[in-house]
Parts: sequence; C-alpha cells; structure tokens
Amino acid sequence: MPKFSDRVERVSISGIREVFEAAGEDAINLGIGQPDFPTPEHARAAAVDAIEDGLADAYTENKGIASLREAIAEKHRTDQGIDLDPANVIATAGGSEALHIALEAHVSAGEEVIVPDPGFVSYDALTKLAGGEPVPVPLRDDLTLDPTAIEAAITDDTAAFVVNSPGNPTGAVSAESDVREFARIADEHDVLCVSDEVYEYTVFEGNHHSPIEYAESENVVVVNSASKLFSMTGWRLGWVYGSAERVDRMLRVHQYAQACASAPAQYAAEAALRGDRGVVEAMTDSFERRRDILLDGLADAGIDCPTPKGAFYAMPRVPEGFVDECLDRGVIVVPGEAFGEHGRGSARISYATDEDDLREAISIMANAYDAVQ
Ligand code: PMP
Repeated sequence: MPKFSDRVERVSISGIREVFEAAGEDAINLGIGQPDFPTPEHARAAAVDAIEDGLADAYTENKGIASLREAIAEKHRTDQGIDLDPANVIATAGGSEALHIALEAHVSAGEEVIVPDPGFVSYDALTKLAGGEPVPVPLRDDLTLDPTAIEAAITDDTAAFVVNSPGNPTGAVSAESDVREFARIADEHDVLCVSDEVYEYTVFEGNHHSPIEYAESENVVVVNSASKLFSMTGWRLGWVYGSAERVDRMLRVHQYAQACASAPAQYAAEAALRGDRGVVEAMTDSFERRRDILLDGLADAGIDCPTPKGAFYAMPRVPEGFVDECLDRGVIVVPGEAFGEHGRGSARISYATDEDDLREAISIMANAYDAVQ
C-alpha cells in the first residue's frame, strides 16, 4: 500500500458523485450544481479572438491579466460600492482554487475553520487539506447562517469562518443585518471571514450583501467566480480579493500551484464582466420561475421546504429512504448529509433543469415521498 499524507487521507471524494454513479442513464438529474445556460456569446467570442490573436499562448501575470483584474475591480466597485484596487485581485482556476488559496494562506496546522453545516463540501475538505480542523455550525431553521452561532464557535484557535450567501446547498440568502454581523465578528474577534459569493447574481428577494461592504478591518476575503455568475463552469475562472497583505500570501500559493489562470478563460471572463448583463437577468428570472414551480409542487406533495431566496437549490426536509426511493424511480437528488451531519433529514434539489423535466421529477418525488412516509 503506498503511503499518503495524513491530510489527503482525511478527505474523500464528494458524496454527490456517488449518487450520480448509482443512477440509471435516463434519470432526471436534479443533482447538478451548474446553470443550464450557454456561456454568453460575447464571452466565447473574446476567448476565440484571444486565441487567434496569439494572446493566449503564454503565461499571464500570476495574478491574471491587468484588464481582467480592472474589470473585476470595477464590478465590485459598482456592485459592492467598495474601492477595490485591481492589484488586490487574483484570477484563479474557479472559485474552487480561490477557496483553496485563501485557506492555505491563512490556516496553520491544527487551527480551526468555522463552516456552515450543511455547507458546500469544499469548505470542510480544503480546511483538512490545509491541515486545519473544520468546526461545523448548524444553520437556523430557515437555513440561513446564524452569526450568533458563528460567534459562539470562535476560540483562540480559530483561523477563519466561512460564510456563503446565496448558499449552496440551501439557496438561503443572508439578511443584510446578518451580513453586518459577519463583518462585526471579523472586526471584533480579529478573525478572517472568507465570504463565498459565487451565486451573487442569483437572488430573487432582497439584495446580495457582502461583509466586505461593512468590515472596518481588513479581515474579509471575498471569493467569486464566472462559473455561476455567467454560466461558465467549464472555463474554470474565478477570483479572490482582499487586503494587499492577504493577497500577497494567497499569491504565494497560487504562484506555485497554478502559475496563472487559463489565459483564454481570462479573456472570456473579462468580456462577460464588461458585456451586456441581459443574459444574467434572463438566467435569474428563469431560476425564479423554476423555483416557484418546484416549491408549489413540493407543497402540493406535502413536503416541507424552507423558501430558497437565491442560487438554484432547494433543501426540503425529507423522510429516511426518500433519496434512494427517488433514485429507484429515476430522479437524482443529493442526500443532505453529503453537506454535513446537520444536513441529515434533508435533500438538496438543484432545479437548474428543463421545466418539463422538472415537472416530471416533481411528480416522481411526490410518489417517492408517499412511498416512504
Ligand atoms: N462555492 C460554492 C458555494 C459552490 O457551490 C461552488 C461550485 N459548486 C464553488 C464555490 C466553486 O465553483 P467554481 O470552482 O466552479 O467557481
């Protein structure tokens, strides 16, 4: 048996994959975490132009091309009202790498990282790979993150806490008052807040807020990505920003692990950021319509589900055996415990799927629910 690092032995392949593998080929897949739209035409065209003009042949600056970082800074100046210096942005291989370098740069061996439970699977895994200890905190009944729970979990060993609104797997959107609290906690406890905002543009009620708008210290690092904002999951282009000092440390990891984000993807993301946002509005409207179809269907079936206010996920409370029963009947949903112990008793439904398929899946789920009740 080869010898592996203790760190890598502490993580396993995500439980989501297992569900996909167990499903039949013609199953309706409500397990996939990506928008079902094409990448905007202007973004594709920018990548093609960059390739044809020979701009994509060489490494870019480690942080990414200046014009992309300027476009990112401009986006956050507009959307978050913050004064962001493009020098304090690193373009990464998706939000995934952004989370990775944020944790690598800030978590020492044995230090704690407070993560939402249920929460996106990478927070737990990347904390362990960084040598840290994830400290899961349960969510409120409406599936929002509770600042009081985060504050109560802080110890002398806390390196960071992760917040994620709109949330995966919950679809929950944090209220502005909670986001202000996240900022206050980061300030008062002098602890890093990693804010994962990759679903920022998919909000149906209220507005997206970031702790970086309110923090008085430099204790917030923001992760974002073209993946969900512009339906570009395959391009692998995200970014992270924060104070100059924090960016300097994250860049050390990025430089050795990645060198730079893919050049064609950088040009595509820049075009997406600068281009017409009509496509983004159309995506959000479409997700909202499908959310309503799903919520109505679940309510008719008697399945209890907190109302998701963003992203494209819902997390109903389901009886034991529900997920397997759905799988047997040809609908893939992900068991809540794939996202943490407190996810047990729930299932994540991704409704980024065709409306007809969604309606059919709802009727199958209703029957599955009746069968296991
Ligand atoms: N954060 C959250 C909450 C996510 O759901 C995802 C993707 N599923 C990511 C980050 C990473 O996405 P990407 O690497 O494609 O940008």
